[in-house]
Amino acid sequence: MLDDLVEVDFPLPAMEVVTYLCKGCGLCIEHCPQKVIAFTDKFNDMGYKYAAYSGEGCTGCGVCFYCCPEPGAIVVYKKAKEKKGE
Ligand code: SF4
Ligand code: SF4
Repeated sequence: MLDDLVEVDFPLPAMEVVTYLCKGCGLCIEHCPQKVIAFTDKFNDMGYKYAAYSGEGCTGCGVCFYCCPEPGAIVVYKKAKEKKGE
């Protein structure tokens, strides 16, 4: 099962907005308890100004993931649980 984990080269926990799926509603920005998401000044191919993670401060709580109305637009990366004895 652990072999299925995705390896990323940035600090965890973290979130990522899949820019082409974002509709710019702002719900993730409004509800993130850490206030670490903001709108960029760029527009995606659908013409929406999209949200992005600031790059630090995410706790991996998942609030943004659950409040986003666009399926797949937000990915939250959490730290893998360490195995007992490690
Ligand atoms: S997982 Fe939680 S802390 Fe991290 S960006 Fe989403 S709402 Fe904010
Ligand atoms: S909640 Fe989803 S659709 Fe709305 S701004 Fe955030 S990423 Fe974009």
